[in-house]
Amino acid sequence: MMKKIIQQLAKSEHVLLASHIKPDGDAIGALLAMGIALEKQGCQVVLFNESSIPEVYRFLPAVGRIQKKLTDWQRFDTAVILDCGVLSRVGSAADDIATIPVIINIDHHTTNNRFGHFHLVDVNACATAEIVYRLILEMKLDVDVAMATAIYTGILTDTGSFRFSNTNQAAFSICEAMVAAGVKPSTVAQHVYGAYSLGRIKLLNLALDSIEISNNGYLSIMTVTREMLACTDTQPEDADGLINYARRIRDVKVAALIHELENNTAPPPRKQYHVSLRSDGSVDVSNIAMKFGGGGHAGAAGFSVESSLVELKQTIYDLSDGFGESCHLN
Ligand code: 5GP
Ligand code: MN
Repeated sequence: MMKKIIQQLAKSEHVLLASHIKPDGDAIGALLAMGIALEKQGCQVVLFNESSIPEVYRFLPAVGRIQKKLTDWQRFDTAVILDCGVLSRVGSAADDIATIPVIINIDHHTTNNRFGHFHLVDVNACATAEIVYRLILEMKLDVDVAMATAIYTGILTDTGSFRFSNTNQAAFSICEAMVAAGVKPSTVAQHVYGAYSLGRIKLLNLALDSIEISNNGYLSIMTVTREMLACTDTQPEDADGLINYARRIRDVKVAALIHELENNTAPPPRKQYHVSLRSDGSVDVSNIAMKFGGGGHAGAAGFSVESSLVELKQTIYDLSDGFGESCHLN
Protein backbone atom coordinates (compact mmCIF):
# COMPACT_ATOMS: atom_id res chain seq x y z
CA MET A 1 0.00 0.00 0.00
CA MET A 2 2.87 2.38 0.74
CA LYS A 3 4.15 2.05 -2.86
CA LYS A 4 0.69 2.76 -4.29
CA ILE A 5 0.35 5.83 -2.10
CA ILE A 6 3.77 7.09 -3.18
CA GLN A 7 2.81 6.55 -6.83
CA GLN A 8 -0.45 8.40 -6.26
CA LEU A 9 1.26 11.31 -4.45
CA ALA A 10 3.78 11.60 -7.31
CA LYS A 11 0.80 12.39 -9.57
CA SER A 12 -0.92 14.73 -7.10
CA GLU A 13 -0.66 18.48 -7.65
CA HIS A 14 -3.01 20.19 -5.20
CA VAL A 15 -3.00 18.38 -1.89
CA LEU A 16 -5.07 19.12 1.18
CA LEU A 17 -3.60 17.76 4.41
CA ALA A 18 -5.83 17.59 7.49
CA SER A 19 -5.82 16.09 10.98
CA HIS A 20 -8.31 15.74 13.84
CA ILE A 21 -10.08 18.49 15.73
CA LYS A 22 -8.63 19.38 19.14
CA PRO A 23 -5.25 18.31 17.79
CA ASP A 24 -2.58 16.77 19.97
CA GLY A 25 1.16 16.72 19.26
CA ASP A 26 0.85 13.79 16.87
CA ALA A 27 -2.03 15.31 14.86
CA ILE A 28 0.02 18.50 14.44
CA GLY A 29 3.43 16.85 14.03
CA ALA A 30 2.26 14.35 11.41
CA LEU A 31 0.42 17.11 9.53
CA LEU A 32 3.45 19.40 9.43
CA ALA A 33 5.99 16.71 8.53
CA MET A 34 3.83 15.28 5.74
CA GLY A 35 3.00 18.77 4.45
CA ILE A 36 6.65 19.83 4.28
CA ALA A 37 7.55 16.53 2.59
CA LEU A 38 4.92 16.90 -0.13
CA GLU A 39 5.94 20.49 -0.71
CA LYS A 40 9.55 19.36 -1.18
CA GLN A 41 8.25 16.92 -3.73
CA GLY A 42 6.74 19.79 -5.69
CA CYS A 43 3.07 19.58 -4.65
CA GLN A 44 1.00 22.63 -3.80
CA VAL A 45 -0.09 21.90 -0.26
CA VAL A 46 -2.67 23.36 2.09
CA LEU A 47 -2.48 22.37 5.76
CA PHE A 48 -5.80 22.34 7.57
CA ASN A 49 -7.04 21.87 11.11
CA GLU A 50 -10.40 23.16 12.21
CA SER A 51 -9.33 23.84 15.82
CA SER A 52 -6.88 26.38 17.19
CA ILE A 53 -3.39 25.04 17.64
CA PRO A 54 -2.65 24.71 21.38
CA GLU A 55 -0.12 27.25 22.63
CA VAL A 56 2.42 24.57 23.57
CA TYR A 57 2.75 23.47 19.91
CA ARG A 58 3.06 26.92 18.39
CA PHE A 59 6.88 26.70 18.43
CA LEU A 60 6.83 24.04 15.71
CA PRO A 61 8.35 25.17 12.40
CA ALA A 62 5.71 25.99 9.76
CA VAL A 63 2.88 25.77 12.30
CA GLY A 64 1.63 29.15 11.06
CA ARG A 65 0.84 27.48 7.73
CA ILE A 66 -2.03 25.51 9.28
CA GLN A 67 -5.34 27.07 8.22
CA LYS A 68 -8.57 26.92 10.19
CA LYS A 69 -11.05 27.91 7.49
CA LEU A 70 -11.04 26.97 3.83
CA THR A 71 -13.16 27.56 0.78
CA ASP A 72 -12.65 26.49 -2.82
CA TRP A 73 -12.41 22.78 -2.08
CA GLN A 74 -12.58 21.95 -5.82
CA ARG A 75 -8.93 22.96 -6.26
CA PHE A 76 -7.71 19.80 -4.49
CA ASP A 77 -7.05 16.56 -6.39
CA THR A 78 -5.88 14.71 -3.28
CA ALA A 79 -6.54 14.76 0.47
CA VAL A 80 -4.18 13.26 3.03
CA ILE A 81 -5.99 12.69 6.33
CA LEU A 82 -3.72 12.10 9.31
CA ASP A 83 -4.34 10.62 12.78
CA CYS A 84 -8.12 10.23 12.21
CA GLY A 85 -9.87 6.92 12.91
CA VAL A 86 -12.91 8.12 10.98
CA LEU A 87 -13.18 10.96 8.48
CA SER A 88 -15.64 12.87 10.69
CA ARG A 89 -12.78 13.47 13.15
CA VAL A 90 -11.62 16.35 10.91
CA GLY A 91 -14.73 18.23 12.06
CA SER A 92 -17.38 20.06 10.09
CA ALA A 93 -15.24 20.10 6.91
CA ALA A 94 -15.69 16.31 6.57
CA ASP A 95 -18.42 16.61 3.92
CA ASP A 96 -16.33 18.99 1.80
CA ILE A 97 -13.25 16.81 2.17
CA ALA A 98 -15.27 13.76 1.12
CA THR A 99 -15.75 15.39 -2.31
CA ILE A 100 -11.97 15.41 -3.00
CA PRO A 101 -11.30 12.78 -5.71
CA VAL A 102 -8.51 10.88 -3.92
CA ILE A 103 -8.49 10.45 -0.14
CA ILE A 104 -5.46 8.92 1.60
CA ASN A 105 -5.97 7.74 5.19
CA ILE A 106 -2.77 7.63 7.29
CA ASP A 107 -3.38 6.56 10.89
CA HIS A 108 -2.60 4.27 13.82
CA HIS A 109 -5.92 4.06 15.73
CA THR A 110 -7.22 0.54 16.41
CA THR A 111 -10.71 1.82 15.62
CA ASN A 112 -9.76 3.12 12.13
CA ASN A 113 -12.62 2.30 9.75
CA ARG A 114 -10.46 2.34 6.59
CA PHE A 115 -12.22 5.33 5.03
CA GLY A 116 -10.80 6.79 1.83
CA HIS A 117 -9.33 5.35 -1.35
CA PHE A 118 -5.90 4.44 0.05
CA HIS A 119 -5.13 3.48 3.64
CA LEU A 120 -1.84 3.36 5.45
CA VAL A 121 -3.09 2.20 8.84
CA ASP A 122 -0.67 0.56 11.25
CA VAL A 123 -2.19 0.03 14.68
CA ASN A 124 1.22 -1.03 16.00
CA ALA A 125 2.81 2.30 15.11
CA CYS A 126 3.46 4.39 18.22
CA ALA A 127 2.20 7.51 16.48
CA THR A 128 0.96 8.64 13.08
CA ALA A 129 4.27 10.51 12.94
CA GLU A 130 6.04 7.11 12.86
CA ILE A 131 4.10 6.11 9.73
CA VAL A 132 4.74 9.51 8.15
CA TYR A 133 8.46 9.10 8.81
CA ARG A 134 8.51 5.69 7.12
CA LEU A 135 6.61 7.13 4.17
CA ILE A 136 9.03 10.06 3.85
CA LEU A 137 11.98 7.62 3.84
CA GLU A 138 10.29 5.55 1.10
CA MET A 139 9.76 8.77 -0.87
CA LYS A 140 13.56 9.20 -0.73
CA LEU A 141 13.25 12.66 0.78
CA ASP A 142 15.71 14.12 3.27
CA VAL A 143 14.35 14.85 6.72
CA ASP A 144 15.25 18.44 7.52
CA VAL A 145 15.21 19.87 11.04
CA ALA A 146 11.66 21.25 10.62
CA MET A 147 10.29 17.82 9.67
CA ALA A 148 12.41 16.17 12.36
CA THR A 149 11.05 18.49 15.06
CA ALA A 150 7.48 17.73 13.97
CA ILE A 151 8.05 13.95 13.92
CA TYR A 152 9.91 13.97 17.23
CA THR A 153 7.12 15.98 18.89
CA GLY A 154 4.45 13.63 17.51
CA ILE A 155 6.20 10.57 18.92
CA LEU A 156 7.20 12.19 22.22
CA THR A 157 3.65 13.33 23.00
CA ASP A 158 1.71 10.28 21.71
CA THR A 159 3.88 7.92 23.76
CA GLY A 160 3.49 10.08 26.89
CA SER A 161 7.24 10.69 26.79
CA PHE A 162 8.01 7.02 26.11
CA ARG A 163 5.85 5.72 28.95
CA PHE A 164 2.59 4.47 27.37
CA SER A 165 2.07 0.94 26.05
CA ASN A 166 2.43 2.13 22.42
CA THR A 167 6.10 2.96 23.13
CA ASN A 168 7.94 0.64 20.75
CA GLN A 169 11.44 0.25 19.41
CA ALA A 170 10.63 2.57 16.50
CA ALA A 171 9.79 5.35 18.96
CA PHE A 172 13.39 5.31 20.16
CA SER A 173 15.11 4.62 16.85
CA ILE A 174 13.18 7.32 14.99
CA CYS A 175 13.66 9.84 17.78
CA GLU A 176 17.38 9.06 17.77
CA ALA A 177 17.45 9.78 14.03
CA MET A 178 15.51 13.00 14.61
CA VAL A 179 18.06 14.12 17.21
CA ALA A 180 20.80 13.32 14.69
CA ALA A 181 18.90 15.54 12.22
CA GLY A 182 19.14 18.46 14.63
CA VAL A 183 16.27 18.20 17.14
CA LYS A 184 17.13 19.38 20.66
CA PRO A 185 15.09 17.23 23.08
CA SER A 186 15.37 19.71 25.93
CA THR A 187 14.08 22.54 23.74
CA VAL A 188 11.05 20.51 22.63
CA ALA A 189 10.38 19.41 26.22
CA GLN A 190 10.63 22.98 27.45
CA HIS A 191 7.99 24.12 24.93
CA VAL A 192 5.65 21.16 25.37
CA TYR A 193 5.90 20.52 29.12
CA GLY A 194 7.76 23.44 30.65
CA ALA A 195 5.99 26.62 29.61
CA TYR A 196 2.57 26.34 31.30
CA SER A 197 0.64 29.43 32.31
CA LEU A 198 -0.01 29.93 36.03
CA GLY A 199 -3.71 29.38 35.25
CA ARG A 200 -2.94 25.91 33.89
CA ILE A 201 -1.25 24.93 37.13
CA LYS A 202 -4.20 26.33 39.11
CA LEU A 203 -6.53 24.30 36.85
CA LEU A 204 -4.48 21.21 37.69
CA ASN A 205 -5.22 21.93 41.34
CA LEU A 206 -9.00 22.07 40.74
CA ALA A 207 -8.89 18.98 38.51
CA LEU A 208 -6.94 16.97 41.10
CA ASP A 209 -9.44 18.00 43.74
CA SER A 210 -12.31 16.71 41.56
CA ILE A 211 -10.98 13.13 41.42
CA GLU A 212 -13.38 10.44 42.64
CA ILE A 213 -12.82 6.67 42.82
CA SER A 214 -15.23 3.78 42.27
CA ASN A 215 -15.98 1.47 45.21
CA ASN A 216 -13.78 -1.28 43.80
CA GLY A 217 -10.93 1.21 43.29
CA TYR A 218 -10.47 0.29 39.61
CA LEU A 219 -11.88 3.50 38.13
CA SER A 220 -11.09 7.15 38.74
CA ILE A 221 -13.12 10.08 37.44
CA MET A 222 -11.76 13.59 37.05
CA THR A 223 -14.03 16.46 36.02
CA VAL A 224 -13.15 19.73 34.28
CA THR A 225 -16.04 22.20 34.03
CA ARG A 226 -16.39 25.48 32.13
CA GLU A 227 -16.47 27.19 35.50
CA MET A 228 -13.02 25.78 36.38
CA LEU A 229 -11.65 27.10 33.08
CA ALA A 230 -13.26 30.50 33.67
CA CYS A 231 -11.92 30.96 37.19
CA THR A 232 -8.39 29.94 36.22
CA ASP A 233 -8.52 31.92 32.93
CA THR A 234 -7.61 28.81 30.91
CA GLN A 235 -8.64 27.21 27.61
CA PRO A 236 -9.95 23.67 26.98
CA GLU A 237 -6.49 22.71 25.67
CA ASP A 238 -5.10 23.41 29.17
CA ALA A 239 -6.86 20.22 30.32
CA ASP A 240 -4.71 18.12 27.93
CA GLY A 241 -2.75 15.54 29.88
CA LEU A 242 -4.49 16.13 33.24
CA ILE A 243 -6.10 12.71 33.02
CA ASN A 244 -2.71 11.07 33.47
CA TYR A 245 -2.79 12.09 37.15
CA ALA A 246 -6.05 10.21 37.64
CA ARG A 247 -4.49 7.18 35.94
CA ARG A 248 -1.47 7.09 38.23
CA ILE A 249 -3.39 6.12 41.34
CA ARG A 250 -2.54 2.64 42.65
CA ASP A 251 -5.02 -0.10 41.56
CA VAL A 252 -6.75 2.23 39.07
CA LYS A 253 -7.21 0.38 35.78
CA VAL A 254 -9.16 3.07 33.95
CA ALA A 255 -9.24 6.83 34.40
CA ALA A 256 -11.98 8.97 32.89
CA LEU A 257 -11.80 12.71 32.39
CA ILE A 258 -15.20 14.32 31.95
CA HIS A 259 -14.70 17.57 30.10
CA GLU A 260 -17.65 19.95 29.79
CA LEU A 261 -17.72 21.31 26.24
CA GLU A 262 -18.20 24.94 25.24
CA ASN A 263 -21.25 26.21 23.32
CA ASN A 264 -23.64 23.86 25.06
CA THR A 265 -26.98 23.64 23.30
CA ALA A 266 -28.51 20.85 25.40
CA PRO A 267 -31.51 21.63 27.64
CA PRO A 268 -30.44 21.81 31.31
CA PRO A 269 -29.42 19.84 33.30
CA ARG A 270 -28.06 18.05 30.25
CA LYS A 271 -24.83 19.28 28.69
CA GLN A 272 -22.36 18.14 26.07
CA TYR A 273 -19.29 16.42 27.45
CA HIS A 274 -16.15 14.86 26.04
CA VAL A 275 -14.94 11.85 27.97
CA SER A 276 -11.28 10.87 27.74
CA LEU A 277 -10.38 7.36 28.84
CA ARG A 278 -6.96 6.02 29.79
CA SER A 279 -6.11 2.48 30.80
CA ASP A 280 -3.24 0.86 32.67
CA GLY A 281 -3.08 -1.76 29.90
CA SER A 282 -5.47 -4.29 31.46
CA VAL A 283 -8.67 -2.87 29.92
CA ASP A 284 -9.17 -1.99 26.23
CA VAL A 285 -10.76 1.46 26.48
CA SER A 286 -11.21 1.78 22.69
CA ASN A 287 -14.00 -0.84 23.02
CA ILE A 288 -15.70 1.27 25.67
CA ALA A 289 -15.35 4.46 23.61
CA MET A 290 -16.77 2.70 20.54
CA LYS A 291 -19.90 1.75 22.49
CA PHE A 292 -20.49 5.47 23.00
CA GLY A 293 -19.78 6.37 19.36
CA GLY A 294 -16.15 7.35 19.88
CA GLY A 295 -12.87 5.54 19.30
CA GLY A 296 -9.14 5.53 19.90
CA HIS A 297 -6.53 3.04 21.06
CA ALA A 298 -6.54 0.22 23.64
CA GLY A 299 -4.81 2.48 26.14
CA ALA A 300 -6.26 5.90 25.23
CA ALA A 301 -9.66 6.62 23.76
CA GLY A 302 -12.49 9.11 23.92
CA PHE A 303 -16.08 9.90 23.06
CA SER A 304 -18.56 12.76 23.28
CA VAL A 305 -22.03 12.56 24.85
CA GLU A 306 -24.95 14.69 25.88
CA SER A 307 -26.01 13.91 29.44
CA SER A 308 -26.44 15.35 32.89
CA LEU A 309 -23.23 15.16 34.91
CA VAL A 310 -24.80 12.92 37.56
CA GLU A 311 -26.06 10.40 34.98
CA LEU A 312 -22.79 10.44 33.07
CA LYS A 313 -20.77 9.70 36.21
CA GLN A 314 -23.15 6.84 37.07
CA THR A 315 -22.82 5.42 33.54
CA ILE A 316 -19.03 5.51 33.85
CA TYR A 317 -19.06 4.05 37.37
CA ASP A 318 -21.24 1.17 36.12
CA LEU A 319 -18.47 0.26 33.69
CA SER A 320 -16.04 -0.38 36.54
CA ASP A 321 -18.01 -3.47 37.64
CA GLY A 322 -16.53 -5.14 34.56
CA PHE A 323 -12.92 -4.24 35.41
CA GLY A 324 -12.23 -7.43 37.38
CA GLU A 325 -9.48 -9.92 36.69
CA SER A 326 -11.31 -11.26 33.62
CA CYS A 327 -10.70 -8.25 31.39
CA HIS A 328 -6.95 -8.57 31.00
CA LEU A 329 -5.63 -7.96 27.53
CA ASN A 330 -3.50 -10.73 26.12
P1 5GP B 1 -8.50 12.21 24.03
O1 5GP B 1 -9.05 11.52 25.21
O2 5GP B 1 -7.15 12.76 24.32
O3 5GP B 1 -9.44 13.17 23.41
O4 5GP B 1 -8.29 11.10 22.93
C1 5GP B 1 -7.63 9.88 23.17
C2 5GP B 1 -7.54 9.10 21.88
O5 5GP B 1 -8.86 8.75 21.46
C3 5GP B 1 -6.93 9.89 20.74
O6 5GP B 1 -6.16 9.02 19.97
C4 5GP B 1 -8.12 10.40 19.97
O7 5GP B 1 -7.82 10.56 18.62
C5 5GP B 1 -9.18 9.32 20.21
N1 5GP B 1 -10.51 9.92 20.32
C6 5GP B 1 -10.92 10.82 21.23
N2 5GP B 1 -12.21 11.16 21.05
C7 5GP B 1 -12.64 10.47 19.99
C8 5GP B 1 -13.89 10.40 19.29
O8 5GP B 1 -14.89 11.05 19.63
N3 5GP B 1 -13.93 9.56 18.21
C9 5GP B 1 -12.85 8.82 17.81
N4 5GP B 1 -12.98 8.02 16.74
N5 5GP B 1 -11.67 8.86 18.44
C10 5GP B 1 -11.55 9.66 19.52
MN1 MN C 1 -1.86 9.76 17.25
